[in-house]
Amino acid sequence: GAGLGSWPRRRARISPGAVALSQGGRALTYQELADSTDRLAAVLAGLGVRHGDRVAYLGLNDTATFETMFAAQRAGAVFVPLNHRLAAAELDYMLADSGASVLVVGPGGEEPDERLRALDSPRRELRHHLSYDELAAQAPSHAAPGAVPDTAPNEAVSNEAVSMDDPALFLYTSGTTGRPKAAVLTHANLTWNTVNQLVHLDFTSTDTGLCIAPLFHAVGLGQISFPLLLKGGTVEVVPRFDAAAVLSLIEERRATCFSCVPTMMRMMAEAPGWPGADLSSLRLVLYGGSPMPAHVAAEWRRRGVPVHQGYGMTEAAPGVSMEAALPDDAPTAGAPHFFIDTALLGQDGRPAPADGGGTGELLVRGPNVFPGYWNRPTEEAGFLTDGGTPGGPGDWFRTGDVVRAGDGVLRVVDRVKDVYISGGENVYPAEVEAVLNELPEVAAAAVVGRPDERWGEAGVAFVEAAPGAAADPAPIREHLKARLARYKLPKEVVFVEDLPRTASGKVLRHRLRARAGGAA
Ligand code: AMP
Ligand code: MG
Repeated sequence: GAGLGSWPRRRARISPGAVALSQGGRALTYQELADSTDRLAAVLAGLGVRHGDRVAYLGLNDTATFETMFAAQRAGAVFVPLNHRLAAAELDYMLADSGASVLVVGPGGEEPDERLRALDSPRRELRHHLSYDELAAQAPSHAAPGAVPDTAPNEAVSNEAVSMDDPALFLYTSGTTGRPKAAVLTHANLTWNTVNQLVHLDFTSTDTGLCIAPLFHAVGLGQISFPLLLKGGTVEVVPRFDAAAVLSLIEERRATCFSCVPTMMRMMAEAPGWPGADLSSLRLVLYGGSPMPAHVAAEWRRRGVPVHQGYGMTEAAPGVSMEAALPDDAPTAGAPHFFIDTALLGQDGRPAPADGGGTGELLVRGPNVFPGYWNRPTEEAGFLTDGGTPGGPGDWFRTGDVVRAGDGVLRVVDRVKDVYISGGENVYPAEVEAVLNELPEVAAAAVVGRPDERWGEAGVAFVEAAPGAAADPAPIREHLKARLARYKLPKEVVFVEDLPRTASGKVLRHRLRARAGGAA
């Protein structure tokens, strides 16, 4: 099959000597990546990994993450990257939920190992738990490296051919609401997303992209790594995001592109090294995943860096839309990708065309949209059938996002669930947050609704003060009053040290709601 596990070998036919992955001065060519993929796939097969099994991975971003991923997929298994920041109980939950038979712990950072010792294991399902170094040190029990035919299914590794509709990756959703669940992404989903990215943007084989977003999220994999690896470019793997270090790395590696979340761009623009950083090599910076404060995007543009907003979600592997060219004025979420359809949820609960404009919950369908969550009933994926049978290719995925369509582009308004109603009027917290972010004394802000006797619901603004700024609500209130309708004004302004966030920079609103509710 043409599954992801075959990509390194296929790419090695075209550009064997080109560098596929590099990290801290170490480089792995496509030939070396192909050989290591086959060898590690054979080791995994020797450990009993079969078609459809799950191979979990815990570690920082590393070349080993890619090697283990391609190897697992080459062996017909599903790769399950886990968030290394999670606590033992959370990891334990994901290991049990995914039913992983092998857990590979990546190099670097002792923390994960320590937490692993605290796991409830040995779980029955988890047959092997080993470090990447141990995995790489094992001699394959069969299949000599490179001896696997390029086009035939890898008989020596897996008896069954990998089908494009087989799951290739489980990504646990960020869990801003409830228990995390694994989005099942098939080889086809990830391939079509990659095609969409390559059609939309000008990636080339001479690109060097930094992989700074964590590899257990869709942004790091789908938005930058897969497109570059298919195209034959170089992925420079960054184990841990550090704003100052990334600025130096851009210069040192003459990086041409990277993808990230808005928080990362904010941190880089606030780093002491920012004014003197040489950013001239950058030609494609992609961001998405949460709203971007206007002044941060403007600051990057002022430095002449082409920054493109993308919009998507784990369930779409992850791309839905992207700015193809730089916007003349305010950034948007750009035009939908080539192979994706969009619609708005109509008042009647049916899909309505989005081309004519309008605001509503966005529906998406296309070959990159996932088939559902692992271990959960199909209904939980919230598909909307368009006449056909549920689970069919005509199904729409409800994104849960309120989007404004018009002028051929999408604008993300807010998440449906975050909207609250004050005095009968809809308040979109993202709009209030954008106004808060205009203030130099505000580093970051999040607004949530809480029950209110008089208005039904009222807003509470949580504010991270900028370094050196006083925690004074008065000027903030003044500014909001001048810019927003009365019903949108938060009733309370609460200063916090740090907003609670997921590893991908999303604010954990349920925590803030709990706090806001408690303060009522
Ligand atoms: P995840 O499933 O963790 O990848 O998160 C996907 C969600 O992030 C979407 O459903 C949106 O709510 C949010 N999101 C993604 N891109 C953007 C964007 N450009 N602007 C605002 N929110 C975004
Ligand atoms: Mg989501």
